[in-house]
This record gives sequence, structure tokens and C-alpha cells, in this order.
Amino acid sequence: MARYTGPACKLCRREGTKLFLKGERCTSGKCAIDRRASAPGQHGAANKKQREYGMQLREKQKTKRYYGVLEKQFKNYFEEADRKEGMTGENLLKLIERRLDNVVYRMGMAESRKEARQLVLHEHFELNGKKVNIPSIIVSAGDEIKVRENFRSSAKCKALAEGLDSKIAPKWLSVDKAGLTAKVVALPARDDIDFDFNEQLIVELYSK
Ligand code: SF4
Repeated sequence: MARYTGPACKLCRREGTKLFLKGERCTSGKCAIDRRASAPGQHGAANKKQREYGMQLREKQKTKRYYGVLEKQFKNYFEEADRKEGMTGENLLKLIERRLDNVVYRMGMAESRKEARQLVLHEHFELNGKKVNIPSIIVSAGDEIKVRENFRSSAKCKALAEGLDSKIAPKWLSVDKAGLTAKVVALPARDDIDFDFNEQLIVELYSK
């Protein structure tokens, strides 16, 4: 399945919530959700009662879009989460949260997950001392993520580094803002994921 290349704000309007897909714009007065929360399309404002299946499907779509993960990858994450001990829904979120592109975003070195993905694809980061270009790598406790030397002098990197002071990393990441590095000091817990997911709906959807 191809990666979605249409307007990001349309996805938020479809899900009826802010998915934070466009960096600074998402916290400005220009956010489409803040200005108009109805779903796209002429019947978007009809406020139809969603059926159970519809709600489960929407929750899956919302989660997938929030993290910028494709359908097949998302299903694979679910299957892996289901094989682990504990609550499958929580396992799913905790697993996706550990993707390298999400870690780059969480450490503050990208304005959005989409931008983080691009920066990783362009080999601007090292993982444990080796350059990486795979955004879907799952990090582990003890891993170190570092901005590579050849990216540091770029205007883009300098702008991102300047913005680090205003960003707060989750407690499972220890960020050295001067050194442009981050260490995974623990695996993320469910409480560390500061977004309103109802992961149980996703479990119900895949359990049909
Ligand atoms: Fe979503 Fe950001 Fe667009 Fe708002 S500005 S609708 S949060 S992508």
C-alpha cells in the first residue's frame, strides 16, 4: 500500500482530533482542527452515530496515522504485541513508540514524525555509533541516538537544535541538548504516551 501523500490536515479532520502531523502549524492558530473540527466532505458535520465497527476502525486509523505507519506494518506490530506478555493494546503502543523515527521526534530533533522519518532516511543519525537509514528500527533500553557530524553544520540542524530548549522529552529518553544525542534509559510505559488512544478498540477490531 502506498504512503499517503495528500493533505495532512485532512487526516486530522477525518479522525476528528489533532494528530500533530505538521510541526509548528499544529500549535498555531492555523490548525484546521482548531478552526473547524468536522470531518472532510459535505456530510462531515452530520454527526452520525458511529457503529461499533466504525469506532474500532477509526481508532486503528487514528493510531496508524499518528505514527505514520502503513497498514501492513501496523498489522505486523499488532501481531508482535499479541505474542508478548501483558495487554496487547498497551504492548502495541509501547512497541510503535520505540520506532527510531518516533524517537528522533520525541528527542526534539524533528518538527513532526514525517520530518523525523525523512531525516533518518537521509542518514543524519547514528544508532550506537553506526549510521542508520531505517526509520522503523525498534530501539532498546541502553541505545544511543546521535546527530551525525556532517548534518550538524546545516541550517536545518541548527534550527532544530535551537528549538530543543522549548521541547520536553519523555522520561524514558535522556537528551543531551548540547551534544545532540539521546539515550534510551528505559522502555516507554503506557503512561509515557501522552495521547488519547483507546487501544482496546484496536484489539477488538483485530480480534473479529
Ligand atoms: Fe492536524 Fe497539525 Fe493540520 Fe492541525 S495543523 S489539522 S494538528 S496536521
